[in-house]
Amino acid sequence: MPRYFRSAAIIGTLGADAGNDAVSPRRPAMTQDAWYRDGLRFECTRCGNCCGGATGTVRVTDREIEALARHVSLRVDEFRAVYTRPLRRGEISLREKQNKECVFYQRDRGCTVYEQRPRQCRSWPFWGSVVESEERWSEEAEDCPGMNRGRLHSAEVIARTSETDGTGGFVPISSDLDDARASTR
Ligand code: SF4
Ligand code: SF4
Repeated sequence: MPRYFRSAAIIGTLGADAGNDAVSPRRPAMTQDAWYRDGLRFECTRCGNCCGGATGTVRVTDREIEALARHVSLRVDEFRAVYTRPLRRGEISLREKQNKECVFYQRDRGCTVYEQRPRQCRSWPFWGSVVESEERWSEEAEDCPGMNRGRLHSAEVIARTSETDGTGGFVPISSDLDDARASTR
């Protein structure tokens, strides 16, 4: 999985959130020429690689923060103070623990806010920055054993998911990694 950032469909598969992913015989023009035009396989193995293991970034919107705050029975301002940290450009990420796991990850339970996990976690691995090329997909598949196995997701679903992946177009680069590290100290 992403070496410098995280996502996760842990304790489930992305398909349920991505909508109807049956492979359609009629493809919109936008996906006819895509390298993944025949669809891609993904089914989460629940290995947990993406919720810990390395410093990561889990972007959350105001609406997601409100939903998460309700989920853990905190006021929004309390939730922001305890569970989030600022990134550059005014974006917000969930915090992580000293061991670099996402603050909501527990080894014996997986994601403890699964029902309210952010869009970034739901849309993996069909992020725009991952499906942009077969090479990028293969790179990420080295760390995510759920990729290239299991359920087949249609090109239409992949394209639609990648357009609203919740990552803000984020691509792991060293300066973002430095930001993430600094904010956890
Ligand atoms: S299979 Fe992939 S998405 Fe599922 S927990 Fe492992 S790294 Fe994360
Ligand atoms: S919110 Fe849940 S799914 Fe997303 S990184 Fe944290 S523990 Fe993993």
